[in-house]
Amino acid sequence: AKKNPACVAFCNKEMASYNKKRHIIEQNLRKILFVNEEPQPQQLFMVYQPFMSLPEKQLAGFEALVRWEHPELGVISPGEFIPIAEDTGLIFTLSHWVVNRVCEQLVEWHQQGFDFKRVSVNISALELMNIKFAEDLLSLVVQSGAQPCWFKLEITETALMAIPEQAIEILQKLTMADFEVAIDDFGTGYSSLTYLKSLPASTLKIDQSFIRNLIDSSEDQAVIKAVISMAHSLGKQVTAEGVEQQAQLDYLIAHGCDVAQGYYFSRPISVQEVSRLYFEV
Ligand code: C2E
Ligand code: CA
Ligand code: CA
Ligand code: CA
Repeated sequence: AKKNPACVAFCNKEMASYNKKRHIIEQNLRKILFVNEEPQPQQLFMVYQPFMSLPEKQLAGFEALVRWEHPELGVISPGEFIPIAEDTGLIFTLSHWVVNRVCEQLVEWHQQGFDFKRVSVNISALELMNIKFAEDLLSLVVQSGAQPCWFKLEITETALMAIPEQAIEILQKLTMADFEVAIDDFGTGYSSLTYLKSLPASTLKIDQSFIRNLIDSSEDQAVIKAVISMAHSLGKQVTAEGVEQQAQLDYLIAHGCDVAQGYYFSRPISVQEVSRLYFEV
């Protein structure tokens, strides 16, 4: 079939601007991660989104999420720049920065006497490819004066299934060192039940795609009920992410979900807001 020249031109143009944006993001990420000579305004920073225990709705920890605010490009979402960091190998430096930054924050909160429970940090699939990931992370945490028992590590189901044997080994080491592990975006990958049984993870974090239409979808309800009952039989906790509505929360509470997170309780917030809203009496 002959291609419509107008369409080809349009697609190429779109492609070109897509590549250009990727390139700009990569260049900028490189710059902020590697050029520290001049003290620049902090473009990269962390925000924290609370978790609530159910049914009490008490603070059960936070998830640390990275943010990038570029002076000209504006706010770039991690959904956009994390994949680029992964494609270009910058993810290792970025993760290193994230872990250090969160450690500093937790040391500070600890010194101020704040009970932050555990703080979750997202781990990229690529980091698990490194057999020494557990050792490297442990030394990073210890060197900064933080403690593994302050952390939960969120690892996606897909990342785990990419290298099941190695992942189990790494998770065992992390757990022995007193980190806790949660399987993120649970339900969107394909873990076998055999595998799940032996996985050293304390928590299954149900993906928000199952929560979104929960109220109208009997299929989503069935999945959620099954995940909660299976997790509990295996001695694991269930966290629901992306909870926005009272009705979703009521359903989760009625079916024994342990922890919830989402805009219903709070968006990800700055460090200042965290101490104002959660730690000040
Ligand atoms: P994720 O780990 O699945 O994080 C959940 C995302 O859902 C976050 O988006 C969060 O802000 C958003 N969210 C929370 N509650 C709600 C809600 O009630 N409704 C809706 N619609 N969304 C909600 P965010 O912060 O833009 O992060 C996107 C993804 O980027 C994360 O997905 C995670 O995979 C990745 N990411 C974020 N920070 C980091 C990081 O420091 N390191 C790594 N490796 N990945 C990160
Ligand atoms: Ca996560
Ligand atoms: Ca998730
Ligand atoms: Ca996700």
